[in-house]
Amino acid sequence: MFPGPLGLALAGRALASGTWSLDAVNIRDFATDRHRTVDDTPAGGGAGMVMRADIVAKAVDHVSDDRPRLLMSPRGRPLTQARVRELAEGPGAILLCGRFEGIDQRVIDSRALEEVSVGDYILSGGEAAAHIVLDAVVRLLPGVMGNVLSGDEESFENGLLEHPHYTRPAEFEGMPIPAVLTSGDHAKIAAWRRCKAEQLTAARRPDLYAAYTPPKTGKKTKPKPPQEG
Ligand code: SAH
Repeated sequence: MFPGPLGLALAGRALASGTWSLDAVNIRDFATDRHRTVDDTPAGGGAGMVMRADIVAKAVDHVSDDRPRLLMSPRGRPLTQARVRELAEGPGAILLCGRFEGIDQRVIDSRALEEVSVGDYILSGGEAAAHIVLDAVVRLLPGVMGNVLSGDEESFENGLLEHPHYTRPAEFEGMPIPAVLTSGDHAKIAAWRRCKAEQLTAARRPDLYAAYTPPKTGKKTKPKPPQEG
């Protein structure tokens, strides 16, 4: 599963050029029986299987150093752009991917694993969640994104969802590009984009909007009813 999609496009080019590296460790390599078993039935009964504390701990210890140890887990703290940025500025990370019902709680406690969720839904394994974490972090590494500015203007970077985008053709199915964007007036364009971003955020993510502080001179656009386009 690794590098998988991370071996392609932006992340893949950065991987090939050595901007980042990936060391995939197979937890089965730390099993002790000839079937390379990593899971067993849950204590207390119930459906599914649980990854064994002793095997997973050996795998974690094998790679542990000063890097944060993240466990992909739907019970974790939801991943945010702020945490992504911290990770990108840090020494790297160890990402532990669960399977089955998850892993024995004693490994989470004893190895001080930071549980990270990628959303309120259940995946069949932590690998796709790890792809998400890695993709989000790698694109912030110096030199990975061609246009450095675009990283700062993305959704979430300033506490807002991003404004809508347009490109050619000038007219699509009777819909023109908003006139302000072709006016050449950069101050007006910036003001329009901020206004759109604030309206979108107020309509779709009241939680983000409540926490948002507008820049110095700015006053918050009064949350209007959803108004798109
Ligand atoms: N029984 C668990 C779900 C296990 S899903 C529960 O109900 O909480 C199997 C594995 O997929 C997990 O161990 C975790 O590593 C990964 N996973 C599933 N959903 C995830 C999510 N939303 N975020 C991060 N990892 C997730």
